Amino acid sequence: MTNCIFCAIVAGTAPSVRVSETEATYAFMDIAPGNDGHLLVIPKRHSTDLLDIDAQDLTAVTLEAQRIARAVVGDLDADGVNLLNCCGADAWQTVFHFHLHVIPRYADRDRDRLRLPWQPGVPGDRQVMTDFADRLSVALG
Ligand code: AMP
Ligand code: ZN
Repeated sequence: MTNCIFCAIVAGTAPSVRVSETEATYAFMDIAPGNDGHLLVIPKRHSTDLLDIDAQDLTAVTLEAQRIARAVVGDLDADGVNLLNCCGADAWQTVFHFHLHVIPRYADRDRDRLRLPWQPGVPGDRQVMTDFADRLSVALG
């Protein structure tokens, strides 16, 4: 895909700090990390987002993200990890080549810079939940 920065990284024509590589995936450090160790796992083959990626590439990227997450928690000094995917500009996606963020988390609140973007423990509107579930059930068949 022309004009795709992540395709350029896979091709080696744009720089990256490499973490791992498999036949179908490439992992590298995020240039603007949310926490120390924040990295991205991408399919080598271009796909725009979660809605576009095929099952084989999605599986490969997800399994590689899990392998990296295990190392981040088991072998480095992270206390937890978040996987994040943004699908669509309104969902914070800024690079339109599918990627999973792997973000190490730290028990030390001074080191960990991430905060939940919603209020935990605040109950939602029951009717809105039911309506959404009903509409989705119909859409899913
Ligand atoms: P998203 O907002 O989910 O699309 O995430 C895109 C991520 O890619 C952001 O966290 C950026 O910091 C990161 N990013 C953009 N360009 C590069 C690059 N050239 N090398 C490494 N990370 C990048
Ligand atoms: Zn691409």
